[in-house]
Amino acid sequence: MRFRENFNAFMSNRYGADQFGRFLSVFALILLVADLFIPGLAGKIIAAIVLLVLAFVIFRMFSKNTVQRNKENIVYLKIKNWIVSRFVNFKRRFKDRKTHRYFKCPTCKTSVRVPKGKGKIRITCPRCAATFIRKS
Ligand SMILES: [Zn+2]
Repeated sequence: MRFRENFNAFMSNRYGADQFGRFLSVFALILLVADLFIPGLAGKIIAAIVLLVLAFVIFRMFSKNTVQRNKENIVYLKIKNWIVSRFVNFKRRFKDRKTHRYFKCPTCKTSVRVPKGKGKIRITCPRCAATFIRKS
């Protein structure tokens, strides 16, 4: 009871856990498991990386500079969302690769999806209304 109160007071103005911390913890865990199968110098280097990552995770949790820690988390979330959306797009393109084609608008670089096999067509970009001709 006493310990919990003390601990809560200790943590009250500290950063704690976030998505970036969780990602780094999982990353360290995966490296740790991989390290079991990697002998020699490479194994030692991986063990050192695991220690560094865990030290960084602990440092972030106990950090009082919550503004900076939050900035790091936002950068992490941006990168993660970019990768996830890339993957989702790739999956969708692969799924309808037989029925649709994708073209990049030459003006604004937006990706435009058109039905396949219609010959030469004039495409109007839904975002900037530029038109261009492509073979579908
Ligand atoms: Zn456009």
